Amino acid sequence: MKVAIIGAGASGLLCAIECAKSGVEVDLYEQNNKPAKKILVSGNGRCNISNTSLDAADFFSQNPNFVEYAIKTFNFKAFEKMMLTLGLPLTALEDGRAYPLSNEAKSVANILVQSAKNFGANLITEHKVNSLSELKNYDAVVVATGSETASHLGGCDDGYKFAKELGHNIIPTYPSLVQLELDSPYPKKMSGAKVEGEVSLHINGIKEQTISGDILFSDYGVSGFAILDISQTASVALLNAQAVDIVLNLLPKMTTQQIAVFLLNTSKNNPSLTLFDIIHNLLPLKITQAVLLSLNLSPTQTTCDTKLTKKIANRITQWKFEVSDTHGFRHAEVSGGGVDTTQINPKTFASKLQPNIYFIGEVLDVVGRRGGYNFAFAWASGYLAAKDIISYNCSTQLQVKTQSKK
Ligand SMILES: Cc1cc2nc3c(=O)[nH]c(=O)nc-3n(C[C@H](O)[C@H](O)[C@H](O)COP(=O)(O)OP(=O)(O)OC[C@H]3O[C@@H](n4cnc5c(N)ncnc54)[C@H](O)[C@@H]3O)c2cc1C
Repeated sequence: MKVAIIGAGASGLLCAIECAKSGVEVDLYEQNNKPAKKILVSGNGRCNISNTSLDAADFFSQNPNFVEYAIKTFNFKAFEKMMLTLGLPLTALEDGRAYPLSNEAKSVANILVQSAKNFGANLITEHKVNSLSELKNYDAVVVATGSETASHLGGCDDGYKFAKELGHNIIPTYPSLVQLELDSPYPKKMSGAKVEGEVSLHINGIKEQTISGDILFSDYGVSGFAILDISQTASVALLNAQAVDIVLNLLPKMTTQQIAVFLLNTSKNNPSLTLFDIIHNLLPLKITQAVLLSLNLSPTQTTCDTKLTKKIANRITQWKFEVSDTHGFRHAEVSGGGVDTTQINPKTFASKLQPNIYFIGEVLDVVGRRGGYNFAFAWASGYLAAKDIISYNCSTQLQVKTQSKK
């Protein structure tokens, strides 16, 4: 039995290890000059490799139950055990996010690539597969090409092209876990400033979600964990041409009223202090400047009445921005949409249109929340596809044996 795996990323490498370990001949094609480029940069170089608690609710797909079998069968315990056997111990944070004990993504990439090679998989780098017809001589082909996110790391839409060659349906793709571009001059003025804030997502004027966490301003808009976390819902809404706004609370540690009272009292007690001086005691410099500018207030102004303090406090806790776009596939961590999973067997990841072709990982219409879920799905789908290929390998060998006995 000879299998071609297209893509030496997370799902392709794990599939290659499992197949090669069981004696399947594996050619692993990778267009980049080295494998596992996304793993190497993942989790800010630490690789949030999985999550101790995997649930279908942590994933988005037009076919929401599709992931259920995979994440329950190849759950965190099974994955952790496999990694330990390969020589990679893991550690988990209280919230469930799991990392390599080394805390370095390099060790993950290294162990996967070395293991695949040691078990006999043939890694062929700088080889881009252009069409499935090039791989006619293989008994099975696994499409592990990922999505079009992060083109500098090998992200491309080849997997969708391969799927279309077979007549598969593609669910429209969109960037997820991505920064947001805002239609406003102020983010640029606050570029580089960061707060522990709160972001509320409004779609067609209705509040959908509120998330706490880092908010970081940049020339085009906003990034940071809170923004990445709402980006999935925001991106789908933008794809559907809905009106998307975010309302930022830049100081959730105080209520709007507490801020107003603080501004008023400080101004009364210290009449020589400017508005800039007072607000800068609450917020970073660039944000203070932008708050004042957005309200047409002079930073050197010293007088401050109740009406004005309320206005400033409201701006700090409820600053509304129109989201014009996401920051695009190039900057996104993952992509939503992809190969329609209703045409894929959820237990084997084989195409229902051509059973010896498999689709695994991010090329499928499955995207996870931030927290290690995307790798978790890549591992689980790679594992189940390998198990199915191995079962064919065993039955083929059995058949040959039976035939030779006759
Ligand atoms: C910056 C960043 C940080 C991330 N951090 C995390 C994290 O901490 N935790 C988490 O769970 N997820 C994280 N992700 C998401 C995670 O990396 C992906 O979900 C995961 O890598 C998907 O695995 P995959 O095997 O489907 O695709 P990939 O890992 O993208 O691998 C696909 C491979 O296929 C190759 N390829 C494509 N087409 C062809 C072709 N025609 N011929 C040959 N080769 C081809 C590509 O070059 C690539 O190497 C992050 C992503 C990014 C971009």
